[in-house]
Amino acid sequence: MNNLFGHSKQITGVMVSYYFICKRKLWLYARNIQLENENEEVLIGRQIHEESYRREKKNITILDAINVDFLHKKNKLILNEVKKSSINEEADYYQLLYYLYFLDRYGVKAEGEIRYPKENKKKNVTLTEENKKELLLILNKIEKIIEKPLPKKIKTSKCTKCAYKDFCYVV
Ligand code: SF4
Repeated sequence: MNNLFGHSKQITGVMVSYYFICKRKLWLYARNIQLENENEEVLIGRQIHEESYRREKKNITILDAINVDFLHKKNKLILNEVKKSSINEEADYYQLLYYLYFLDRYGVKAEGEIRYPKENKKKNVTLTEENKKELLLILNKIEKIIEKPLPKKIKTSKCTKCAYKDFCYVV
């Protein structure tokens, strides 16, 4: 059965991010093989997230697809993501863009800000007709990846900090 967006499986922001980081990671996560909670890198990232901008934040969770902080600024709803580093900047951008698109489908207009407090850096994200088309193509590709067999290991430096490394290099 298709969901609200015409996709057979509920795509989440994390899945959009993993599309850019590693297709195998995306596949494993989408099949509910989720090891993130135990990984030290993820725990450090979560700590930075919790300690940054503490006074400004409220958490928003919608249908398991969105889990993000938001704040009101200049009469606008701003979705606010805090990241440990900008090493996966493209993944961060499309993850937040997906949240904006998701809310837009419910008639909620919002803008996005990605913050990298350790690098003193901030990136603004706005949903446009152009990047919405790009995003829809990505969502279709994600669906195709998770319907196919498990993708091969990518064997890059990303693997050393990946929550799935024990799985990938034992299996
Ligand atoms: S360990 Fe490497 S190949 Fe395996 S999921 Fe992580 S990034 Fe992908």
